[in-house]
Amino acid sequence: MRLADIIIVGGGVIGLTIARALAKRGAGDVVLIEKDQPGLEASWAAGGILGPQAEADQTDDFFRLGCASRDLYPSFADSLKEETGMDVELDKTGTLYLGFTADDEHEMRQRYEWQSSEGLPVEWLSRGEARKLEPIISRKTRCALRFPNDWQVENRRLAEALVRANERLGVRLITECEVKALRAEDGRVTGVESSSGSISAPVVVLAAGAWTSLIKSTGTPLPKIDIEPVRGQMLCFETHPPIAQHVLYSSWGYLVPRRDGRVLAGSTEEFVGFDKDVT
Ligand SMILES: Cc1cc2nc3c(=O)[nH]c(=O)nc-3n(C[C@H](O)[C@H](O)[C@H](O)COP(=O)(O)OP(=O)(O)OC[C@H]3O[C@@H](n4cnc5c(N)ncnc54)[C@H](O)[C@@H]3O)c2cc1C
Repeated sequence: MRLADIIIVGGGVIGLTIARALAKRGAGDVVLIEKDQPGLEASWAAGGILGPQAEADQTDDFFRLGCASRDLYPSFADSLKEETGMDVELDKTGTLYLGFTADDEHEMRQRYEWQSSEGLPVEWLSRGEARKLEPIISRKTRCALRFPNDWQVENRRLAEALVRANERLGVRLITECEVKALRAEDGRVTGVESSSGSISAPVVVLAAGAWTSLIKSTGTPLPKIDIEPVRGQMLCFETHPPIAQHVLYSSWGYLVPRRDGRVLAGSTEEFVGFDKDVT
């Protein structure tokens, strides 16, 4: 049986970021186990919008966590660049949330009043002001909210940079190895059973994304975690020169303009289990 100080299950952006943070703090022998190759699931599919404010209508713990995480991105991106030489293309232009109907305008007015009363950065724009910033947007736009601190990152580069950073920090990345179960004794996790055998560790971090609920425990039953997959499909357009600077968001979907001229248009939300087929 192999040993580790900490096992991370799952090599998406969450698992990779936790592994890196632990290794940087000198947490000992950190092992990350990934059933496929790291960074190729939701963290690859995503649009990379760092936008906790754009759709939020109340201050709760999740909102505060989202804002605090987003606010760490500039220093996170800088330190990843130092560690790996990779630019994760953090774009701080901001997000424009567009309203097209009276209902949109009503909802956006409430969001604006709540967020500005909380001291959060948000601007109310008329159609003319919004179109001055982004001439591409429709003449049917009634109003817009600008969130100057809701940014975007090139999530695929981010995952790649995190893999490199972990390799340099000496994190052991075990790929194409599936964790089948957590081992638990007397109410404590003691390691994992994987497709390549058992690994013991006093600490196991579950970062298996949509698959988390499928990982059971042997020995002492552990609390049940209910997480279900949601399929999201996007279209990617090539535009030269780029058609917009801001992330453009609305109740109908979003457009994410990338630095290289690609525009991601998303996203569907489909409850179809683990089916990843493009329809
Ligand atoms: C189309 C789409 C667009 C999105 N857009 C955005 C966006 O703009 N902004 C935003 O903030 N979020 C967005 N998201 C959500 C975002 O992608 C996810 O919240 C984020 O990537 C989750 O990261 P993760 O590491 O938890 O999961 P994942 O990236 O899915 O990583 C989990 C990893 O665990 C591995 N794993 C699972 N089970 C096991 C096992 N038993 N053993 C070993 N390894 C295992 C998987 O192979 C996978 O690599 C979007 C999602 C989708 C699908």
